[in-house]
Amino acid sequence: MKVFKFGGASASTIDRIKHLPGIIKSFSGEKILIVISAMGKTTNALEKVAEAFYDNRKEDALQLFNVVKQNHLTTAKYLLVKNYNATEKAFADLFTEVEWLLHDKPVREFDYYYDQIVCAGELFSTTILSAYLNEEGITNKWIDVRDVFRTDENFRDANIDWAFTENKVKENVMPLFNDFDIVITQGFIGSTDENESTTLGREGSDYSAAVFANMLNAESQTIWKDVEGVMNADPKQFPEAQLISELNYDEVIEMAYYGAQVIHPKTIKPLQNKGIPLHVKCFLDASLPGTVIYKKSIRNLPPIIVLKQDQALLHLHSKDFSFVGESLTANLYNIFSEIKIKPNLIQSGAVNLQVCIDDRQEKVEKLAASASEIFDVQIEKGLTLLTIRHYKQETLTKLTEGKAIVLKQQSAETVQVLMK
Ligand code: ASP
Ligand code: MG
Repeated sequence: MKVFKFGGASASTIDRIKHLPGIIKSFSGEKILIVISAMGKTTNALEKVAEAFYDNRKEDALQLFNVVKQNHLTTAKYLLVKNYNATEKAFADLFTEVEWLLHDKPVREFDYYYDQIVCAGELFSTTILSAYLNEEGITNKWIDVRDVFRTDENFRDANIDWAFTENKVKENVMPLFNDFDIVITQGFIGSTDENESTTLGREGSDYSAAVFANMLNAESQTIWKDVEGVMNADPKQFPEAQLISELNYDEVIEMAYYGAQVIHPKTIKPLQNKGIPLHVKCFLDASLPGTVIYKKSIRNLPPIIVLKQDQALLHLHSKDFSFVGESLTANLYNIFSEIKIKPNLIQSGAVNLQVCIDDRQEKVEKLAASASEIFDVQIEKGLTLLTIRHYKQETLTKLTEGKAIVLKQQSAETVQVLMK
């Protein structure tokens, strides 16, 4: 058994979607569970629908939703012949579900409505792709993952009820492979025990696929992307970025932690726990070797570069010149946990602390407000955080040339520089 995940980029245009049948046919005879994200930028578009609805701009919400709807109908028209009518019917039910909700008035919290609306993207994409693959001779079974993935009610960042879900996978999903080689389902979404839809956090489909891989005891997971594999830097920022052909779980966790947009950070644990290798491959050219991530010690990695723009640095100074000891520090960490902030860098001195976080207005304001009860607070914005793992001095020199360095932290493996 294998698990595949196709991201939004692999289903963003008709041309791209047409790569899928060939890839899947090249694994003919294998049992594969396929997890698919929403097409292209659908999730962003649905976020706008949720915002308009919550702002009581009902007409806007309906109109924005209509654009999403028409896009999917057009895609279905291009791809389907035999199955078009059946798909249109399936769509009608999904559309109505969202439209009914849009006619209500919001009475609950935003995150709840966000999940009820945004989850539609994955349901649309998998409905089309399942029908399309069936037409292309790849007989498959579509399932609604909300009948399988049980979560808590932490809308927009829901946590999977592992025992319940594992049981569902074993009892309801596993047996489908007696009759089908291919099962198609959604990433990113789940459901509470009240049948309310939930989402697992943006870009969460990689994680959904890993949960399936773990629970199905898959031999491997493959994430199909529009890039060659995992690179040592973002090729959009660094044209000379190079492919890394092998990585281990630890390195990928570290890369994700420092902000590399490679794989959703939660993806590794379910795979590592069962020793399941993760392949990252290019759906545009499946003959390229890609990257494999597994349990192995790997030497001689190139410098791995992560650049995070839009950083804010909070300078915290103890009010009465008392030392920044364990109790002040503990207070500060409690604040992080209350407002759900993950600092990207912290440096402490005798009477001051510096905390670097992503410059998200609302979070920065909340942190500054809470911290100002114990510290004098100053905020510096417009900074960039450079992280290099396995750094060489020459790389560091080159990347910081002409920049004013605000803060620097260095260990044997990793150097971080906050710069202007
Ligand atoms: N469609 C969701 C998103 O764009 C989930 C995913 O792509 O993994 O965030
Ligand atoms: Mg995506």
